[in-house]
Amino acid sequence: MKGTRCFAFTLLITLIGSSWFFTPGSLESQKLTMEKVVDNLYVIYGAGGNVGVFITKEGVILVDDKFEQHVPEIIGKVKTITDQPVRYVINTHHHGDHVGGNPLLLATSEIIAHRNARKNMVNKAQPGLPRVTFNEEATVFLGGQEVRIYHFGSGHTNGDLVVHFPAQKVIHSGDLFVKGNFFVDYASGGSSLEWDKVFLAMLKLEFDKVIPGHGEVANRNDVIQQKKDFAIIRQRIRKIIQQGGSPDQAVKRLKLDDLPGWKFTNLMKRSLKGLFKELAN
Ligand SMILES: [Zn+2]
Repeated sequence: MKGTRCFAFTLLITLIGSSWFFTPGSLESQKLTMEKVVDNLYVIYGAGGNVGVFITKEGVILVDDKFEQHVPEIIGKVKTITDQPVRYVINTHHHGDHVGGNPLLLATSEIIAHRNARKNMVNKAQPGLPRVTFNEEATVFLGGQEVRIYHFGSGHTNGDLVVHFPAQKVIHSGDLFVKGNFFVDYASGGSSLEWDKVFLAMLKLEFDKVIPGHGEVANRNDVIQQKKDFAIIRQRIRKIIQQGGSPDQAVKRLKLDDLPGWKFTNLMKRSLKGLFKELAN
């Protein structure tokens, strides 16, 4: 029993160490559900990051793959809508709640990630390394469909991708957009200032709907609003810095209640120290 508990604790620490929107208890209690976004494009909600499921006549492309134990259920859900196999998996970034299924899926599909995301996985000794990486832009052509993948710079991490389905006018943003929430993973090269430029580049893409890293499918206006709100929050942090405040004091002084949909989450609080450093000049 003691051994099991110790193992469970170690597992929990490992998971927390590599995933940023993970809440303890969600692993077993959150059932996965699948919803249609537009024709041939679905989202799987539940524990871990949102999985995008793109169906073509030559195979399926997944965006992110939650935790390893979810792979059978993800595949089961894909099988309810198509007989085609999963051919490609695109990792939006290296956090464990988005790439945890890699080790199982690598056996039968190619996994694509940004070069830095793979490097982060190597540094953190995460299993299931992608075999295909790129620097700025890549396109997957499958079954007469196109999926365009972009790295617009640092934001949530230094290896974030935006996945664009141009014919469907949908993007999967990974954790670059989680409505009313953010986490700047400074240890993995994240940057709040660069993130603003990433939003700008993202908004140049033609899309109506966005599958966020976590939470329900949103739309273009939600992304525009998030960019604005994030800028307001940065400005408020700058003001606290100018007044000589500390990150600890900012937890109490940073006002968010006038920004609809925002909550001062632990992830945002954990970003404060880095934000103070980044925004001090
Ligand atoms: Zn993340």
